[in-house]
Amino acid sequence: EAKKEGKNRFCYFTEALTSNFDYAVNVEKELRSALEEQRFVLFYQAIVSAEDGDVVSYEALLRIEASSLSPVEFIPIAESSGLIVPIGFLIVEEVCRKLNKWRENGVLLKPIAINISAKQLYDNSLVLFIKTCLKRYDLPAYLLEIEVTESVLIENSGYAIQRLEALRAEGISISLDDFGTGYSSLSYLTYMPVDKVKIDKGLKDKFLFLENSAVMKNLISICHDLNLKVVTEGVETEAEYQRLKSFGSDLIQGYYFDKPGPIGDGGKMDP
Ligand code: C2E
Ligand code: MG
Ligand code: MG
Ligand code: MG
Repeated sequence: EAKKEGKNRFCYFTEALTSNFDYAVNVEKELRSALEEQRFVLFYQAIVSAEDGDVVSYEALLRIEASSLSPVEFIPIAESSGLIVPIGFLIVEEVCRKLNKWRENGVLLKPIAINISAKQLYDNSLVLFIKTCLKRYDLPAYLLEIEVTESVLIENSGYAIQRLEALRAEGISISLDDFGTGYSSLSYLTYMPVDKVKIDKGLKDKFLFLENSAVMKNLISICHDLNLKVVTEGVETEAEYQRLKSFGSDLIQGYYFDKPGPIGDGGKMDP
């Protein structure tokens, strides 16, 4: 009986693996065709000052035109297939090109943050590309910001820290993204070369209003003690905003203030 059950379980397992494999193959195909057909586009979402709600910067979020795949679906496969590397170069180029265009149109520029995954820091080419791109468009480095998750440390600790430090030395600010998912050890905050911590929506949802809200309040205060600015992600209501403001969150990102969207030239970044 046990043997039979074991066998069934095995069949079930292989089936799941096979369909996961098919899925990954299809997503990878879609990524390759999107690269070839230049269907990658960036959406931008404002990050605002908790103090007065003024836009401080934007986060660039990747989308595929004419595709139903969301980043949550295609980013992991872009990472595992290595396609995130060429896609990452496109993103840096596009953000620099946009900033330059806005500047030409007399728009007051604000920093744009891009998400970088561990794979993109394995070799030094992205760091070099970023430096070259900023120079080519004559952009000050502070206009580009980088968001990384703690997985950067787990997946390639020594090198990643060196690359991030090199970017920081250029004047590029680094944020630790999705804090509160995964391990989220407080000790990461003491040795990662970061300027800001982005508290994940999940952690905010869990700890902002329940009897555990001391966790949220104290986390923000620990970050401040470590000289880190705090961004809270996924803020959807006035009540959340007000409470986070009272807890000292420096910056706020979420649908309550802005939804990610395309910015036509001279659109969101108003002069
Ligand atoms: P992330 O970097 O943590 O980005 C924030 C995500 O939260 C975005 O999802 C954004 O649309 C969503 N969001 C913002 N405000 C709210 C809100 O009020 N409520 C809710 N429910 N969601 C909100 P998105 O654009 O689907 O991206 C998901 C993840 O995919 C990103 O999480 C990031 O890890 C990854 N990603 C997106 N673009 C890129 C990219 O260009 N490169 C890399 N490496 N990863 C990317
Ligand atoms: Mg991010
Ligand atoms: Mg995040
Ligand atoms: Mg997130």
